[in-house]
Amino acid sequence: MTSGVSFDLFAGPGEMRAHARAFDWAASALGPLDQWPESLRTSVAIMLGSGFPMVLVWGPELIQLYNDAYSPLIGAKHPRALGLPTHACWPEIRSVQEPTFARVFRGETVQLTEAHYALNRHDTGTLEDAYFDATFVPVPLASGAIGGSLSVLFESTDRVRARSAHAEREELREAAAAAELAKREAVERALHDVAEANRAKSEFLAVMSHELRTPLNAIGGYVELIELGIRGPVTEEQRTDLMRIRTAQRHLLGLVTDVLDFVRIETGRLQYTLTNVCVSESVASVEVLIRPQFQAKNIALEPDCPDTRVHVRADREKLAQILVNLLTNALKFTDAGGRVSVVCEDGESMVTVRVRDTGIGIAPDKLQLIFDPFVQVDQRFTRRNEGVGLGLAISRDLARGMGAELTVESTLGVGSTFSLALPRA
Ligand code: ADP
Repeated sequence: MTSGVSFDLFAGPGEMRAHARAFDWAASALGPLDQWPESLRTSVAIMLGSGFPMVLVWGPELIQLYNDAYSPLIGAKHPRALGLPTHACWPEIRSVQEPTFARVFRGETVQLTEAHYALNRHDTGTLEDAYFDATFVPVPLASGAIGGSLSVLFESTDRVRARSAHAEREELREAAAAAELAKREAVERALHDVAEANRAKSEFLAVMSHELRTPLNAIGGYVELIELGIRGPVTEEQRTDLMRIRTAQRHLLGLVTDVLDFVRIETGRLQYTLTNVCVSESVASVEVLIRPQFQAKNIALEPDCPDTRVHVRADREKLAQILVNLLTNALKFTDAGGRVSVVCEDGESMVTVRVRDTGIGIAPDKLQLIFDPFVQVDQRFTRRNEGVGLGLAISRDLARGMGAELTVESTLGVGSTFSLALPRA
């Protein structure tokens, strides 16, 4: 039955008022409108008139009435939720809601901040985490008993999510920063260990090489004494043996000296004494030393450095050492009957000494490797020809140490040319 009162309560704009008007309240637990207690009607009027989300829950059945601002909060449960008992509408959060309403019906106002509800509000069957800030105010009846709970609610899910995402990001940034730090520390430790191991290795090699040189020099000295006949007459056979001992001694001494040189360069212990050095004189002095070995192997040595006026800025001994190494290599890797030439080219700022051979040559992919320490292109061949693969590493380091540069060009089976470019004096 419609009365003026009912018209007044639900009159006005809005979807919820329309739903309320259409609802058969007489059939509900709240009973016909004209029998509603005054405080229920007042609460409904306040709730429907509010621009903020509000819901009224009334009677022992907790029958729900809500306004337009509230309806978006309940998803697919709208508009079915109107006039429905709370626990029938929200079975999934009954255990959370019961204690709240128990307090409200005892006359207590319940204030919640970011209260968590796992809701099935879109009827998908899966529970969705939602958070609300809410006030539940008890609505008294004329008798003083509590008739219902009037609430204002604001959803705070976005805020909570944003905050926890931020916290998560912060946390991740902190797991990441710690990992980065640990990684950096591990790398630093490893680098330190490598440097320490390298230092220990250099130290060991330096001591060993030095210690080996002393007995090797003694061997050379005593061979010389015997060769000179100081210890008595020497037979031809003995002389041949002594020569072999001397060759082996020189070879070993050469290797040990290479290692010592390399360690000295590596540890930066080498001193350079730069003076103006005449290139043709330097080449000539080395050539004198080395020519007998070329003759012994029947390889032509053709020095072509005529201009004695050309000077370079270099360490005299180290320049000689590089030239000896280049010529010894040319000798080692050229077959009998071949040719080795030493050519000097006077440029604007550099003077280039080229040691060219008609030897076995070097494959293109090996060309740059031969300057690395302990690299030998063909170990079977070089084993036969002795050496440990340090000569070129030392030579390039020595060259660079005095502002020069050592490069190579080669054709396999045709020959190689090593070029030492030195700064002009
Ligand atoms: P080593 O001669 O003691 O083996 P080097 O550092 O002087 O060490 O030379 C490294 C390698 O480069 C040699 O083992 C050889 O394979 C190659 N090589 C050097 N000089 C020549 C050359 N003139 N002709 C061919 N190969 C060469």
